[in-house]
Amino acid sequence: MRFSKLYAPTLKEVPSDSDIKSIELLTRGGFIRKAASGVYTYLPLGWKVIRKIEDIVRQEMERIESQEILMPIVQPAELWQQSGRWEDYGPEMMKLEDRHNRSFTLGPTHEEMITYLIKNELRSYKQLPLSLYQINNKYRDEIRPRFGLIRSREFIMKDAYTFHDTEKSLDEAYDDFYKAYERILEKIGVKYVAVDADNGAIGGSDSHEFQMLADTGESSILFCDECNYAATDEKAESGEIYEFNDEKDKELELKDTPNVKTIEDVANFLEKDIKSIIKSILFKGRDGWVLALIRGDYEINISKLRGYLKDQTLHMGEPQEIKKEFDVETGFIGPIGIKNIKIIADNSIKTIKNAVVGGMEKDKHYINAVFERDFKVEAYVDIRIVKKGEKCPKCDKYLKEKRGIEVGQIFKIGQKYSKSMEAFYTDESGKQKPFFMGCYGWGISRTMSAVVEQLHDKNGILWPKNIAPFEVAVVIVSMKDKEQINMAEKIYTKLKNNGVEVIIDDRNVSTGFKFKDIDLMGIPLKIVVGKSLKDGKIEIKLRNEEKGELYSIDNMESILE
Ligand code: ATP
Ligand code: MG
Ligand code: MG
Ligand code: MG
Repeated sequence: MRFSKLYAPTLKEVPSDSDIKSIELLTRGGFIRKAASGVYTYLPLGWKVIRKIEDIVRQEMERIESQEILMPIVQPAELWQQSGRWEDYGPEMMKLEDRHNRSFTLGPTHEEMITYLIKNELRSYKQLPLSLYQINNKYRDEIRPRFGLIRSREFIMKDAYTFHDTEKSLDEAYDDFYKAYERILEKIGVKYVAVDADNGAIGGSDSHEFQMLADTGESSILFCDECNYAATDEKAESGEIYEFNDEKDKELELKDTPNVKTIEDVANFLEKDIKSIIKSILFKGRDGWVLALIRGDYEINISKLRGYLKDQTLHMGEPQEIKKEFDVETGFIGPIGIKNIKIIADNSIKTIKNAVVGGMEKDKHYINAVFERDFKVEAYVDIRIVKKGEKCPKCDKYLKEKRGIEVGQIFKIGQKYSKSMEAFYTDESGKQKPFFMGCYGWGISRTMSAVVEQLHDKNGILWPKNIAPFEVAVVIVSMKDKEQINMAEKIYTKLKNNGVEVIIDDRNVSTGFKFKDIDLMGIPLKIVVGKSLKDGKIEIKLRNEEKGELYSIDNMESILE
């Protein structure tokens, strides 16, 4: 590929809706463009990365003998009515009607569709187990599409489904997928953890999530240093943890935990003076915000905490600006951003869905403020009291927390769909039985963003080689220098013939400009043909290293091999 021909409009400015680094870099680097909220176009570079991720996923699916199919996105309502999910799935489902008023959905997932597909055709135990997968667009009307491809409304998913006559056979397939998912993440080349997960709306028994580690991840992963147990926070159980996290995420030694109820108790427990704790809460705020968000089912009363509420309102209804100082009389409980948040007001605990309360004015209790609609969370607390019951279920040690981005999830769904949709096979004795099923999702487009979230620096993306849009960029420093051009072209052709994915920067722009684009795009290796060519040398620089090295062109043949 020639840079002069590449359609990759890069941007200097940070796009206004970059709520996370990956979306900024993917947009600025010319990988994707937003079409509507949660809906994106993949430009040539972005599509290359997507296809590489798909290739890795496909290879691993084929390895465990799953067969690729392609099911329709448009699915008739009847199938979902049979399974009961037409109602149960909720407002995330995008529904539509045809001209005859028949209802359809744009598939958010395909359990119903595949059960319908195999029903009456996959008949005998002799045909089992069966494993099918597809890579297809999915549609979910997320309540808050955000973080670009990480939570979009149209996204690409690999979804696989398996059918079995026994639970043992399902266990085996589950295990295959588990290992395949680990191999996918290893091939991509990212840090990840597989965690014990909740089954959510899908139903069934076992489930694991595959999480790429990233500080900005929406998932909280509790893990055990001792035995490698890891679970989503919803799943983890037992024990008590009191953690104090300062900027460096300093771990405190966990001791016998007292009954911490007030900030004084916390201070005593942490052997810190109360001022330093309050200060750290105040100062942690990115925007001068004060916010006490405490995860879990624990009461904490933070008294005499002062701070600002800014550019937001905590009232239902009309937004209004509150920019005055306040005293926080009461603490707030709940994971940051979402799900059953509990707040304490008047010594009673109220549970509010999809809400977090950002602060309170003395003698007033603002409840039911909806996150992002009414206020923004600009600060995290330093004190986090994880709810009662978070000890490792395997070895009884306290669990620690990391943030992650869920890129894949596998489920044993058992007979939920085969029973409700009457999908039966005939067993050895001629009896009709519902299948055992497994389902296995992988977010292809989310993976692209998650990788960037984990692997970037101040100059741009740091693609791992296996999914980089190009492995090598050959840079011609001076487009006026015939020798440089000839040498660069020679290297380019040679690499191309060797099957390396290479781009030559033949644009008539400054070298600095070229380097900026190439680094922003995250191309793992640069070969720079410049002034030192006079001494028979070219420079080779790895994207993630500070400095390049000069190589003699006499050695080029061997280097390029
Ligand atoms: P989340 O918890 O982030 O909402 P999910 O558990 O609802 O995800 P699954 O139903 O398990 O998602 O779907 C399988 C995979 O599809 C997820 O692991 C994720 O990688 C991807 N995915 C789910 N929702 C989205 C989305 N809105 N945008 C992009 N990818 C998504
Ligand atoms: Mg979801
Ligand atoms: Mg999830
Ligand atoms: Mg999931």
